[in-house]
Amino acid sequence: MNLDVVFNVFVILAGFCVGSFLNVCIYRLPKGKSAIFPRSFCPKCNTPIKWYDNIPLLSYIILKCRCRNCREKISLRYPIVELVTGVLFLGLYLQVGLSWIFAKYIFFFSILVLVSFIDIEYHAIPAYLCVAGIVIGLAFSLPASFYLFKNGVFDLSKFPVVAALKGLLFGLGFTYLFKLFGDVFIDFYLTLRKKDSIEGERESLGLGDVDFMGMVGVFLGMKGVVLTFFLAPFFAIIYSIFALIFKKSHLIPYLPYLSLAALVAFFWGNTILQLVLGI
Ligand SMILES: [Zn+2]
Repeated sequence: MNLDVVFNVFVILAGFCVGSFLNVCIYRLPKGKSAIFPRSFCPKCNTPIKWYDNIPLLSYIILKCRCRNCREKISLRYPIVELVTGVLFLGLYLQVGLSWIFAKYIFFFSILVLVSFIDIEYHAIPAYLCVAGIVIGLAFSLPASFYLFKNGVFDLSKFPVVAALKGLLFGLGFTYLFKLFGDVFIDFYLTLRKKDSIEGERESLGLGDVDFMGMVGVFLGMKGVVLTFFLAPFFAIIYSIFALIFKKSHLIPYLPYLSLAALVAFFWGNTILQLVLGI
């Protein structure tokens, strides 16, 4: 068999397994519980889940999406997260191969999946998740910077860690500035309409969104921040039209759109910039 195919299959299976772990994190971290202990159990009947019922994707199909013990329906989120993570890992592998970059962006992609699905379920994320992302991103930029320094390069602009720090400050500052403007605009609108809030919301962007964009800056740089920031509303609008047609709730968390936009910026950012600047 072709070795490329073997590697592709291996990477996507690894992605499914990481997705399975992310599912546990999505369920437990917002509740302040450990992601590692105790082992997985059914949230309805508390029966520990046997290893053969815990195989990513496969178990969901074999069990016909129900708990083996109490027949409680298993959330569709489980196979979706596993599938999405697997596909993202494969996409990343096809883009950069097995490399240092691959290891670095596995963390980034995993955090994107994590915050998106926590935000969908809880409408808020633990603040430490994006901070952890920022620290991991900076840590990955250190060895190459240290290597340059050791080899007598003292031009700071060439250091990956400097680029990451610039991205961080830009992501935080840029988004915070838009948040300030947005909040003033919303205040103005609420005073004008003599309302207290728009469907319970008073803020344009939350501080969680600001942290998130800081993390995007560390991993994707300043260009990535701008692209992510301006692409996300397009995805939100597409969902809004869908919600309008199918009469679903309009109050939708924003981090999934920012995550989607960050992924598009990672895979197709240069193409998009060329297209936009070319016109
Ligand atoms: Zn059960």
